[in-house]
Amino acid sequence: MPPEKSAAASESGQQANRQSAIPSLDRLLREPALAQLLSRTGRDLVVEEARAEVAQTRQRINRNKAIDVTLDALAQRIEARVASALAMSLQPVFNLTGTTLHTNLGRAPLAEEAIEAMSAVARGATNLEFDLTKGRRGDRDDHVEDWLCRLTGAEAATVVNNNAAAVLLMLNTLANRKEVPVSRGELIEIGGAFRIPEIMRRAGCRLVEVGTTNRTHLRDFSESLSPRTGTLMKVHTSNYVVQGFTAEVSDEDLSALAREHGIPYIVDLGAGSLIDMAALGLPHETTVTETLAKGADLVSFSGDKLLGGPQAGLIAGRADLIAKIKKNPMKRALRVDKVTMAALAATLRLYAQPETLQAKLPTLRLLTRPVADIQAMAERLNPILQATLGDTAQVRITSCTGQIGSGSLPVESLESVALSISPKTTGRGLGGALKRLATSFRDLPMPVLGRISDDCLHFDLRCLEDEAAWLGQLTELRVK
Ligand SMILES: *Cc1c(COP(=O)(O)O)cnc(C)c1O
Repeated sequence: MPPEKSAAASESGQQANRQSAIPSLDRLLREPALAQLLSRTGRDLVVEEARAEVAQTRQRINRNKAIDVTLDALAQRIEARVASALAMSLQPVFNLTGTTLHTNLGRAPLAEEAIEAMSAVARGATNLEFDLTKGRRGDRDDHVEDWLCRLTGAEAATVVNNNAAAVLLMLNTLANRKEVPVSRGELIEIGGAFRIPEIMRRAGCRLVEVGTTNRTHLRDFSESLSPRTGTLMKVHTSNYVVQGFTAEVSDEDLSALAREHGIPYIVDLGAGSLIDMAALGLPHETTVTETLAKGADLVSFSGDKLLGGPQAGLIAGRADLIAKIKKNPMKRALRVDKVTMAALAATLRLYAQPETLQAKLPTLRLLTRPVADIQAMAERLNPILQATLGDTAQVRITSCTGQIGSGSLPVESLESVALSISPKTTGRGLGGALKRLATSFRDLPMPVLGRISDDCLHFDLRCLEDEAAWLGQLTELRVK
């Protein structure tokens, strides 16, 4: 036999030996650790994971990879698989990215009052659509409509799943099979799949582009009107700005033009602040009240941006139009559940007391947090983080600028303070060292997310409120 063939033969013989060393599924499941697991977590899950582990072990043997096939080792790997299948994938994280309303991180942190309201209704039955006074069927919007009207000056209001749904519903209700003129400067895309032209098509509307990217005039709109026009619409360009030689048509002019032609004027406001942000020292963001006062018939905005509530899309404005929207069968497909309704209702009620709003609503509390506070926290945390990282990295306190996020005020930045970590690696290894550092913070029990720039991993401390929890888990940091 040629030497290489005999080597191959003895190799496959060894593989066969190792394969037969794998215990049978029955034998594995009788192993005390797994038998206990079976009774604790249910048979199907454990059997499924045991099968998968055995299959993977066989594959590794076939590929000539080292793997422990003892009962103990197999049982341990199966236990780990079961634990990982049961672990919650959705979990709280520390958002130290510098973007306060981070869409990928779930946007607005909720107020305690909202969280209590959610858990109060979650456990059992509620009067979600039941009028307790009259003893008959009610409307789920009743729980928030009154407060939305008080806070915006609107005649009526309704709630759907998010602002994208609100825009879809407004357009489909008012302009299905009709034309909708929109300025070319406002044909926005917002993270992922929300693009105005696409939403228009899905809502059954024909988009009529008017004006140019940088300048649109009132005459562009009036020339675009036809008997087929369903509504005029303005889209708040929330995640970019057009600067320089620009012109846009005001709400007042658009609403007057719409009224002349007997059609509504609607505004997708996006962030939709309910209060004057400038009074809190933040950059001014057009409020819902202002937009309605300037003549908009309907305004739509998100619940989880500057408003600081749960994910929701709110529509406020003329009573007859809101009534039409509520009759659209699409409304039924886009409605929110009792938990969202409870959180929104509780959040809106916080606005009733302007004196305590900033302290109670986390979004406003974080956005208005004094830089001196953040600096003081950085000074407390810096030596502890440095001691944890030892001589593998250097930690410095740096000034940085964060963002409100979620497309609000894209160019305004929030002055803040960061802990900036630079690994003590230079040259070509630096990128890898930064990535490993970021990974080790993501691996903590409550993952910590920062931002890598200028050869540092930055943790903007604006959104860190639970300092003790953050410090408490540092002992578990393992930088590879
Ligand atoms: C954020 C935003 C949307 C999308 O709102 P969601 O609540 O995320 O669905 C739509 N239009 C504008 C102008 C926005 O800023």
